[in-house]
Amino acid sequence: MRKLDTALMHPRDQITMIIDKVYRSGMTTTSGGNISVIDENGDVWVTPSAIDKGSLRPSDIICVRKNGAIEGRHKPSSEYPFHIAIYKARPDIKAILHAHPPALVSFSIVRQIPNTNVIPQAKNVCGPIGYAPYELPGSEALGEVIANEFVKGFNAVIMENHGTVVGGVDLGDAFQRFETLEFCCRTIINGSTIGTPNYLTDEEIEEFEDQVPRLLPEMETIEHPSDERAIREEIKRIVHRACAQGLMISSYGTVSVRWRNNDFLITPTNVARWDIKNEDIVQIKDGKREPGKVPSRSTWLHQEIYKRNPHVNSIILTQTPYLMAYSVTAQKMDVRTIPESWIFLQDVPNVPFGSHFAGKETILKLLSKNTPAIIINNDSIIVTGDKLLGTFDRLEVAEFSAKSLTMGTSLGKLIPINSEQVEALRKRFLG
Ligand SMILES: [Zn+2]
Repeated sequence: MRKLDTALMHPRDQITMIIDKVYRSGMTTTSGGNISVIDENGDVWVTPSAIDKGSLRPSDIICVRKNGAIEGRHKPSSEYPFHIAIYKARPDIKAILHAHPPALVSFSIVRQIPNTNVIPQAKNVCGPIGYAPYELPGSEALGEVIANEFVKGFNAVIMENHGTVVGGVDLGDAFQRFETLEFCCRTIINGSTIGTPNYLTDEEIEEFEDQVPRLLPEMETIEHPSDERAIREEIKRIVHRACAQGLMISSYGTVSVRWRNNDFLITPTNVARWDIKNEDIVQIKDGKREPGKVPSRSTWLHQEIYKRNPHVNSIILTQTPYLMAYSVTAQKMDVRTIPESWIFLQDVPNVPFGSHFAGKETILKLLSKNTPAIIINNDSIIVTGDKLLGTFDRLEVAEFSAKSLTMGTSLGKLIPINSEQVEALRKRFLG
């Protein structure tokens, strides 16, 4: 899989890679949305107007030179004037992404700004959100109202009755902000479908961020035997797969796999999940971390789970759009929906925000063979299992169940399978 290297990749290659991701993940239509990158010469590279977003090639990208000259095979996006206006207003911004993703558009048509305190990382990833009043697409006036919001220091702006525009220090940064903001909107909407979302206080978010410095000591030497390298590859593949399937976003998610005894490998913190490489993954051996690398914030919890649960050999902690509806509303998910869900999950309890922080026992006490998955309120779902693919499958089953339950809410009351039917499943499948 190709990687986004914002230091060495040409802007047109970065743009085609990210627009493809935006399109594949259902966050733009074929014709809508545009992306630009400004280079060190002050030239702006931008997506073309009216060319299929699903099959854009680097040679389709247009260059608007610093002097205004336009070079390329097509016309530049009709919305490029507001990109130029933002770059003029904010020299620190080097990449801009604009689109009409459905959940963000929902907020823009009811004229609300999403509260990003719904999940812990979004406040810092997105920053405060600006709001630009409606203006004609492609007009100078639209450029002005958007640039005005960026001048105030916002890096993400809701465009009234239109969509969103986000900026970043590079295109990876802009994409992560865009994806996280759309995820917040989806989570608030799905949560509102089944109940009332709760929001974290700024103090709770600070406590979350504070988990990073509590690092394990570094080991002095490191070895990478072939069984260790095989686990790196396995983790990388499942993380990429989770991102592609909408089961993980760039800014959150941890995967670990037991290696030997209680040693394990775990994903790092502060690396865009879809972009994770084998060398980013962190080895944890004898309670020490691989030198020079920062493992996930939740490393302590993973370590304790492996120590106390010999049957657990892999763990996924992530945010998915429908399970998060149950997380942010603190509602219990009843998995007695269909046989598959009950067999895979049995019971999915909720625990309060912060239960996954270092030193907390709640999750460790609840996890067992009969309780393999737990929802952490306003944070994530944690899923455990033997082989990593099986744990991933369990996560998929959980997300499908949450989706069916959420969609079913509009149809009528849930009628779960009864205790006798559950007992029959237990006897037949769990022995
Ligand atoms: Zn637009």
